[in-house]
Amino acid sequence: IAETDIVIVGGGPIGIACALECKKLGLNYVVIEKGALTNSLYNYPKNMTFFSSSEKLEIDEIPFISNKPKPNRDEALEYYRRVSTSNKLNINLYETVLKIDKEGATFKIETDKQYYSAKNVIISTGFYDIPNLLNVPGEELPKVSHYYKEAHPYSMQNVIVVGASNSSVDAALEIWRKGGRVTMVVRGNTIGERVKYWVRPDIMNRIEEGSIKAYFNSEITEITQTSVIIKTTEGMKTLQNDYVVALTGYQPDFNFLKNIGIELSNDDKMIPNYNPDTMETNVEGLYLAGVICGGMETHKWFIENSRIHAKIIIEHIHPN
Ligand code: FAD
Repeated sequence: IAETDIVIVGGGPIGIACALECKKLGLNYVVIEKGALTNSLYNYPKNMTFFSSSEKLEIDEIPFISNKPKPNRDEALEYYRRVSTSNKLNINLYETVLKIDKEGATFKIETDKQYYSAKNVIISTGFYDIPNLLNVPGEELPKVSHYYKEAHPYSMQNVIVVGASNSSVDAALEIWRKGGRVTMVVRGNTIGERVKYWVRPDIMNRIEEGSIKAYFNSEITEITQTSVIIKTTEGMKTLQNDYVVALTGYQPDFNFLKNIGIELSNDDKMIPNYNPDTMETNVEGLYLAGVICGGMETHKWFIENSRIHAKIIIEHIHPN
């Protein structure tokens, strides 16, 4: 068993921010990350541009210099990687936390590689690992994806993009620009209000001119190898289809939280029980940091407004 004071689960921007705070105070800590460093950002679309300007993504006021006001994915990877390496943060990559038990005042953490014991645990596992499913027949076909990387494979293909948020709109525009035939299937009656202000007019104009087809107030009901059936306001339609890119959001791993003993709100928001003044959960000594705090309300927290969690938590664990 590796003994330490603080185990931080998740090496995203906020887990890294927590590690920096620990390091400054000379605390014993380890970050355990199941994938690459900032694995969520690594899995973002290749050409993704953040809606935040770079200074809003900074942690511990370490300057984030980007070429344009809004950085892209590669610049963010560069930044968080450099912050981690130059500060020699203690991060174990490619190690998954499977289980956390509390025995007396001590936490026992089981990973797929070893055991740890710690006085405090910070959960900063984000929400990018579990996609919200369409729950329709055919969703398991290899032509259906809940993540989008780049447009090239979709060139000259009939592609359905499900959803109308930032991810869907970015994907629809990029695939269309690279020669894909794009149809958007949108449950609501318009393009999302939170779509980046400089992108929204672009997608609206593409739809209006007919370059990208969009069905609003519509839902996919079935996917087959060669087609997709959608329920529209004008009745059922069957479209020829090669690929479905379903970007309908993601959700935190609620079972992971419940198994540790964290209570979730009883409504469909499933907000975990924590004290906003300290970020401590109903389990003493166990904290939440970053976008995981929002439950199903994944749009509430982002790097900009959750990077502060790191300081709040470490001050509570180790008051000056
Ligand atoms: P994450 O970055 O998701 O980090 C969680 C980490 O925990 C992951 O690396 C994951 O692999 C790891 N993990 C999970 N489970 C385990 C386990 N059991 N054991 C070990 N490790 C585990 N926010 C902004 O502020 N500005 C933006 O412009 C912006 N754009 C976004 C664009 C997209 C496409 C998405 C999806 C989100 C965006 N966000 C943005 C929202 C949010 O800020 C990011 O999701 C950010 O990555 C959240 O940071 P985090 O550290 O809380 O979680």
